[in-house]
Amino acid sequence: MAVLADHFDVIIIGAGIMGSCTAYEAAKCGLSVLLLEQFDFLHHLGSSHGESRTIRYAYPEPYYVPMVAKSFQLWEEAESEIGYRVITKTPHLDLGPADSKTLQSVISSCNSHSIDAQVLNQSQVSEKFGCSFELPDGWIGLASEGGVIKPTKAVAMFQALAIKRGVVLRDHEEVVDIKKLAGDGNGVMVSTVNGRKFLGKKCVVTAGAWTQILVKTVTGLDLPMQPLHTVICYWKIRESYEKTLVSGSGFPSLASYGDPLIYGTPSVEFPGLIKLAMHGGHPCDPNKRTWGLGSDSSAGSLVDPVGKWIEKVMPGCVEFDKPVITQGCLYSMTPDGDFVLDFVGGEFGRDVVVAGGFSGHGFKMGPVVGKILVEMAIKGGAAAAGSAVGVEMKWFAISRFEHDCRGNAKEYED
Ligand SMILES: Cc1cc2nc3c(=O)[nH]c(=O)nc-3n(C[C@H](O)[C@H](O)[C@H](O)COP(=O)(O)OP(=O)(O)OC[C@H]3O[C@@H](n4cnc5c(N)ncnc54)[C@H](O)[C@@H]3O)c2cc1C
Repeated sequence: MAVLADHFDVIIIGAGIMGSCTAYEAAKCGLSVLLLEQFDFLHHLGSSHGESRTIRYAYPEPYYVPMVAKSFQLWEEAESEIGYRVITKTPHLDLGPADSKTLQSVISSCNSHSIDAQVLNQSQVSEKFGCSFELPDGWIGLASEGGVIKPTKAVAMFQALAIKRGVVLRDHEEVVDIKKLAGDGNGVMVSTVNGRKFLGKKCVVTAGAWTQILVKTVTGLDLPMQPLHTVICYWKIRESYEKTLVSGSGFPSLASYGDPLIYGTPSVEFPGLIKLAMHGGHPCDPNKRTWGLGSDSSAGSLVDPVGKWIEKVMPGCVEFDKPVITQGCLYSMTPDGDFVLDFVGGEFGRDVVVAGGFSGHGFKMGPVVGKILVEMAIKGGAAAAGSAVGVEMKWFAISRFEHDCRGNAKEYED
């Protein structure tokens, strides 16, 4: 057996936004921390790379609203500590048919949390956000506050802050096993593909679309998290709209509810291009992606529905009927679209916390999720971790799944 040289209070597996925020939060609590990543740091093969993610209070599920508020505060604190910005505040616009249940849920969730949001009719949307929108009959908008986060820069920021507080970061260290050490309170041993072994009092798994594979290999627990290959599309803006669709002009980030759900951000990363894409994707093995646009798949194109939506809702805004740049990304979907933040249980009890299934909307929550995970790892209770940020943890418990994949989940409820 290799020499067991390195001991940590917490070992975190996976250095995307969740692992990087968790490492920083743990170090803020004075813990000794190791953050392990299977690929290069800031690689493009997971979910946290790129140039834009939206942050918005407007959520159909009311329990996410206080999490966004706490996260916003933590984003700003991290920005002040590092000395540069990773978020640009923008308006946010939700759209859809007035009778859309999801849109109505967004409106009532904003109301119940006293979020500053205005319901707008067709012409008010065009007046407020320039003439680029021509909502179909029967559609409404909901204007609220939000922002656009730069993901790669944000992950790098949390890693830099973590290093400053003494966190040890190692990339090219794929974790292949986690073993419970005999005896109460002795924690776990984490082994990597390179034959290295690390001891941790606690372990947090933030492995993105690989979470299901790693957790199943180590514990046998089969979490319902489906990796999806998704495609981000950038469209060439017509010259006459270039000044109105750009970040800083008042143009919003947006979510259009309906089938399919379309989301977008103002033009920021590529001058003259706007990001408009479809929420969803094709089931994939994260280790064997084909990187296609879906056009040749029975599951259908991930691009054509966006073109149709643009024709219907923002006609005349873009130059071509195809995007000029596309980029692949990974979702990790749960059946209900809610996160998993829980202990894996079994022989590991409360020594191993798992955070995954962020279902295409987790980035904005990185800082608050990091805080919850550290509370769970240190204090060993989910409920207390949730109340520290004003959220009930039942929404994120493994035991909520219809076919209890842990068999004895109740044992670990708080
Ligand atoms: C196209 C797209 C648009 C999105 N838009 C938004 C948005 O607007 N707003 C929003 O809030 N969210 C958005 N999201 C969702 C958000 O980006 C994700 O929820 C978030 O990035 C997930 O982060 P993560 O840390 O869980 O996963 P990842 O970033 O994938 O990180 C997991 C890391 O674990 C590593 N890893 C895996 N297995 C191992 C192992 N065995 N050993 C060591 N390391 C391992 C991986 O290599 C990876 O680096 C979007 C996602 C996509 C794909």
